[in-house]
Amino acid sequence: MNAHQDHGLRPSIPSPLTEIEDARFTRRGIRLLLKRDDLIHQALPGNKWRKLAPNLTAAADRTLVTFGGAYSNHLRAAAAAGRLLGFRTVGFVRGDELTGRPLNPSLAQCAADGMRLHFIDRSTYRQVTDPLVLDEVLAGAALTGPVHIVPEGGSNTLGVTGCLPLGTELRGRADVVGVACGTGGTLAGLAAGLAPGQRAIGVAVLRGGFLSAEVARLQQEAFGGPRGEWHVEDGFHCGGYARSTPELEAFAADFEDRHGLPVERLYVAKMLLALTSLAERGAFRPGTRIAAVITGRREP
Ligand SMILES: *Cc1c(COP(=O)(O)O)cnc(C)c1O
Repeated sequence: MNAHQDHGLRPSIPSPLTEIEDARFTRRGIRLLLKRDDLIHQALPGNKWRKLAPNLTAAADRTLVTFGGAYSNHLRAAAAAGRLLGFRTVGFVRGDELTGRPLNPSLAQCAADGMRLHFIDRSTYRQVTDPLVLDEVLAGAALTGPVHIVPEGGSNTLGVTGCLPLGTELRGRADVVGVACGTGGTLAGLAAGLAPGQRAIGVAVLRGGFLSAEVARLQQEAFGGPRGEWHVEDGFHCGGYARSTPELEAFAADFEDRHGLPVERLYVAKMLLALTSLAERGAFRPGTRIAAVITGRREP
């Protein structure tokens, strides 16, 4: 990582890869490693730094305009980058019923970092990938000066290519890589960066089964076609985004006890549950090295 690419944000790249002892894996002859992307940056942890960094370069001194839900890690990371690097950020938040209400802690942090927030109704939000709808939304917010638009989750072509190094950092170090999927941008880049013979498993945290198509679309856009060996597990969303089950909560609390690692609940917990369940079902051959990407951290 050179000074130009890190924008003075001083990320810890490559992120550490550490092996842990977990009987549910070792008793089957499987090794479990944690790829600690959560340690990349204090304010822009995990894949959010990887996806934003190339977008920050592209934005130059334009206003960075982006999108997210009321608890979006991406919005928080974008707002923090704006504060640290001194450029303007605007965040469009899904849900106009939030207008005029007190900000939740996540959005309050965005605002404290200088992000201008606009709430848009859910139906418009869904259509914002349509250029005409986007123009209307931007016009409604009366933005001045040039803008650089980054889609929800930071998953545009630049964001996807920003995740290539996550794959290359793992070459020769693991046979299977597990990662949680929201928009699928991280999986799309990661899988493309792996060496032949390595494969990635994306664990969907949303319901709906649309992620494989979305990852394929993102790879087409970024690389001109499919890259690497990957698939999406749709059976571990536990009810959908930000939903949980007693089983998931018990699993995450137990994992924290066993390994002394706080487990982020929206994404990382579901990915770890998926890898553990698959191991227990005999989905991995003895001798397999599995790298679990810790894409974010649990806020205290
Ligand atoms: C955003 C996020 C993801 C999902 O990444 P996508 O590229 O949108 O699939 C996974 N884990 C954490 C902790 C995140 O914040």
